[in-house]
Amino acid sequence: MFKKREKGKRLKKWLLGILVIAVAGLLIWIGLTKLEGRPPEVLLSLESAAVPADFTVTGVAKDLKSGIRQIRIVISQQGGSPPDINPPEKNQRDTDLQNLEIVLMDDVFPATGFAGKGKVRQMPFEVNIHAGKMGLSDGAALLKISVRDYSWRHWFRGNAAYLEKKIQFDTRPPMVSVLTNQHNVSPGGAGLVIYKLSEPCRESGVVVGEEFFPGHAGYFTADDIYLAFFAVPVDYDKTAGMKVKAVDPAGNESVRGFYHYVKKRRFVTDTLRLSENFLQMKLPEFSGEKGFPVDAGLADQFVFVNTVLRRQNNNTILANGAKTDSGILWEGPFIRMPNSARRANFGDQRVYQFNNQTLSNAVHMGIDLASVQHDRVPAANRGRVCFTGEAGIYGNLVCLDHGCGLMSLYAHLSRIAVQEGQLVEKGEIIGNTGATGLAGGDHLHFGMFVDHVFVDPVEWWDASWIANNITGKIQSVQALAP
Ligand SMILES: [Zn+2]
Repeated sequence: MFKKREKGKRLKKWLLGILVIAVAGLLIWIGLTKLEGRPPEVLLSLESAAVPADFTVTGVAKDLKSGIRQIRIVISQQGGSPPDINPPEKNQRDTDLQNLEIVLMDDVFPATGFAGKGKVRQMPFEVNIHAGKMGLSDGAALLKISVRDYSWRHWFRGNAAYLEKKIQFDTRPPMVSVLTNQHNVSPGGAGLVIYKLSEPCRESGVVVGEEFFPGHAGYFTADDIYLAFFAVPVDYDKTAGMKVKAVDPAGNESVRGFYHYVKKRRFVTDTLRLSENFLQMKLPEFSGEKGFPVDAGLADQFVFVNTVLRRQNNNTILANGAKTDSGILWEGPFIRMPNSARRANFGDQRVYQFNNQTLSNAVHMGIDLASVQHDRVPAANRGRVCFTGEAGIYGNLVCLDHGCGLMSLYAHLSRIAVQEGQLVEKGEIIGNTGATGLAGGDHLHFGMFVDHVFVDPVEWWDASWIANNITGKIQSVQALAP
C-alpha cells in the first residue's frame, strides 16, 4: 500500500512537470506569435499636398507577421458643409457640422480560424474623393489612415499603424490674364507674351501647336507676372493655334487664347551637289559616332550623318534651353559677325544630291556667314556660355544663354575661346571660324533658338523688330505694373 502511494505521488509530480512545461511552451508561443509587437506599415502615394476637386488616393498596407485585420480611411475637414447629395452607404457624417468626417474605406480582412493569422499580408488600396459630392470645400483637410493587425496585443485590438496627411483642396483653376496685345509673328520667327496668374502654378507658358514654351517669373517686381518667349515653327499650321496654358499645384488647368497674326512666309529651296572628294574627306570624321555605318557606301554614310546624327545633335543642343537663366541677360540688337557675307539663310529647304541623285533633305536652321579664314567670332549679345565642345555635324560649338529661354549658337569653329558657365559681353570674342563638322569651307553657322525650337536670327539683328515685338511690350507692362 505504502509503496503504491509513493508511486502515485511521483506520477503526479511528473504530470505536473509536463503540464508546467506545456503551459510555459504555450505562453512562449503566444508571446512570440499571437502577441507580436510589430505594427503594420502604410505607404501612401500622393503627388502633392494640393489636390483638385476629384482625385484618387492610392497606397498599400503591409503586415508580414500576424496579417492585416482592418484598413480604415477617413477624410475630415473643419467647418465642412453638409454634402449636396447623400454620400454612399458606407460614408457617415459626423453630427457636428463643424467637423465633417467621411469614412472612405473601412474594410475588415479574414483570418484563418480563431487562433489563426490574418490571410492578408499585403493589401493595395484605392479611394476616390469627390469634394463637391462629399461636401468638402476649398481649403485644408486631413486624410487619416489606420491599419490594424491580428496580434493579440492591446487587449486583442492588435498593433496599429496610423498615418495622417494634410491636404489642401483647390477646386478653382488659375486665372490667366494676357497683358500684351499684338502678336504679329512669322513662321520661323519668335514672339513674346507677358501674362499674369492669379496663383502660383506648377507649370505655365505658351503653347504653339504641339510645342510648349515655359514662362519665367522674376523679371518684373510683381512675381505673378510672367514672360514667355515662343517660337513659331517653320512648318507652322494655322489651325494649330496659340494660347497661354497654366496648371496650378492641384492640377487644375486653364487655357487662354491671345490675339495673334501669322504672316505668310516662303522659304527658298537650295540644291547642294555633293562631290565624291568632299564625302571622302568629310565622312571619316564621323566614323566614331554611334551607329555610323562603317561598311556602307559614301551615299548611305552621308544619309546617316545628315539625318540620324543631325537629329541627335539638334536634341543635344536644344536641351540647353531647359537650363536657361530666369533673367534677361541681353540688351539691344544682336550683332552679326562683322565684314561677313551671308552664304545661306534660315529656313532654306536643302536638297542634297550626289551623282545627280537626291540623297536626303534638311532644313537649314541658322545663317551661314563667311569671312576670312579663322576670323574672330564675337558674342552676338551678353549671355552665359552654356555649351562648349564637339557636337557632330556642328563641329566645335559654343552656345550662349541670353535668359528666359533665348539662346544663340556658333558652329564649325576652329577654336573655342570661352568656358562653360562664363558670362560674356556683347562683342566679346568667343572663338574663331573654321570648317569643323559638316562644313564645306571655313564659315560661321550662326543660329538662335527659343527654349527648344530654332528661330531666324534676322529678327534679333533688327533693332526695330526688337523694339516693336520685345522691348516695347516689356516697357508697356512695366508702365502698368512696375
Ligand atoms: Zn549652316
